[in-house]
Amino acid sequence: MLSWKKSHFIEYFDDFYKSYARFLVSWKSKGASRINFYFIHTAMTKAKLLQPDLTLGKTITHLSPEILRFYHLKGLVLDVDETLVSFKETDVSDELHDWLAEIRPILPIWLVSNNISENRIGRIAKSVDLPYLFGAGKPSRRKLRHAVQHMDLPVSQVAMVGDRLFTDVLAGNRLGMFTILVEPMVELGSAAPSYSLRNLEVWISKKLGVSLHHAQHDFPALSFNPQENIKPSK
Ligand SMILES: [Mg+2]
Repeated sequence: MLSWKKSHFIEYFDDFYKSYARFLVSWKSKGASRINFYFIHTAMTKAKLLQPDLTLGKTITHLSPEILRFYHLKGLVLDVDETLVSFKETDVSDELHDWLAEIRPILPIWLVSNNISENRIGRIAKSVDLPYLFGAGKPSRRKLRHAVQHMDLPVSQVAMVGDRLFTDVLAGNRLGMFTILVEPMVELGSAAPSYSLRNLEVWISKKLGVSLHHAQHDFPALSFNPQENIKPSK
């Protein structure tokens, strides 16, 4: 089962697809229509898998216990580079340490990185005392599955949190996880970098119909109790 947001998204594009398909059949030759069908179908398939369940619009430290509770999340898999620590840094910020101190008692957390340097990822993971997997090759699902299996939780209640659509979000959606797109961590004291590859992914995804409106949460102060969570349909 998909979440209502995804169902709604797919329904919308199914309608669009059918209308456009009818238009093509009436307007173009059969051969050209087939080619267009192929491209639109491919784009639709990719778009579904590129759609984050939540676009936070802020860095990961703004992912509050209230938001996790709201989406019935019981576990987190976190990307490392640019999600927790900027590429140029090797140390975790005080802000991130504070955030982890708040989140850690609530749910299990794993780090899953595409970085092939065990030296870097292992060092970061040890500094925050979290289990980690490196060289994950996201959008491959293999190491995400490994982390989720260790948590022993339904995959739909574990969020894949990352800064990239074509790796983090795509991998998480392929596995059926809840996916959260966050803004990249900016190196302290530096001007905002351009993130050209990330921006290209965002541009392509939007062209494919992915909606990346920043989530607006205005929660009353809630106490977090994982026992109250109900499994959402996905
Ligand atoms: Mg990243």
